[in-house]
Amino acid sequence: MTASPHVLPDPNGTRGGSEEAATSSATLGGERRGSVEQIALVVFIIVPFLALLAAVPLAWGWGMSWLDLGLLVGMYYIGCHGITIGFHRYFTHGAFRAKRPLRIALAVMGSLAVEGPLVRWVADHRKHHKFSDAEGDPHSPWRYGDTLPALLKGLWWAHLGWMFDQEQTSQQKYAPDLIKDPAIRRISRQFVLWTAISLLLPPLIGGLVTLSWQGALTAFFWGSLVRVALLHHVTWSINSICHATGKRPFLSRDRSGNVWWLAVLSCGESWHNLHHADPTCARHGVERGQVDSSARVIRWFEKAGWAYNVRWPKRDRIAARRKRAAAEAA
Ligand SMILES: [Zn+2]
Ligand SMILES: [Zn+2]
Repeated sequence: MTASPHVLPDPNGTRGGSEEAATSSATLGGERRGSVEQIALVVFIIVPFLALLAAVPLAWGWGMSWLDLGLLVGMYYIGCHGITIGFHRYFTHGAFRAKRPLRIALAVMGSLAVEGPLVRWVADHRKHHKFSDAEGDPHSPWRYGDTLPALLKGLWWAHLGWMFDQEQTSQQKYAPDLIKDPAIRRISRQFVLWTAISLLLPPLIGGLVTLSWQGALTAFFWGSLVRVALLHHVTWSINSICHATGKRPFLSRDRSGNVWWLAVLSCGESWHNLHHADPTCARHGVERGQVDSSARVIRWFEKAGWAYNVRWPKRDRIAARRKRAAAEAA
């Protein structure tokens, strides 16, 4: 079998023979996850998590340099905003329009978060909104039922387990707009490259600044491993914690909640009840005092002229989605 530039051999044969389906895959592999990919996934989840566990005693013993802390925080918020502003609010929901360089930059920044290829992320998330907390949702904590044991099992599923599901969300069905863009398709397929850059950049900087292997090693530990683990668990908490608990002042078809204590770490994504009530809104923390750094950065992009047609929250639209107002109107 000879492969055209965008076609990889499909070992599972699940893509079918149609040329259109084959050319439009935007990630390596087909609709089903192969075993090599499963193993890679385990490694990428377990190793940073072990680093996170080791972080506390090591910080006690070694101490942590300002450079390591800076790399951790800097890389964390680049990746986190790449996910929240780029993958989520822009690519998944179209909360604003972006000039071409910003579009590309957001695709790359989000890829540095090591949360899977862009097009797969978007397809999964659009499916999540379509079926939120009902049959078909890729990661609902209510999947196994409402009892406590069922919820505990469901939380594990929503946080982590769903990623090992062999059944993949169809990219052709859920993200045809992204597959059509060759640059976006390329960035999505280059996921391994972005992962390597994301993991090697901190030790490179740490080594060059301190001119030592020790500096490179601690930078790798804090800036790469601990940072990736922390961002993974915060992102996954939106799927697990924010669908199991939190305040629900707004009307949504699901059990999404606003969880205040995750707001800073999640770059504003934990105002998840509002998000499900009004998914295309560029700001999720719409109430006074609700921290939403992603919305702030989108505002900066708008002022710089890089982002336009931003869907900022509208007073009457938000009011109509409030539970009390809706009940009174009924
Ligand atoms: Zn959700
Ligand atoms: Zn969403």
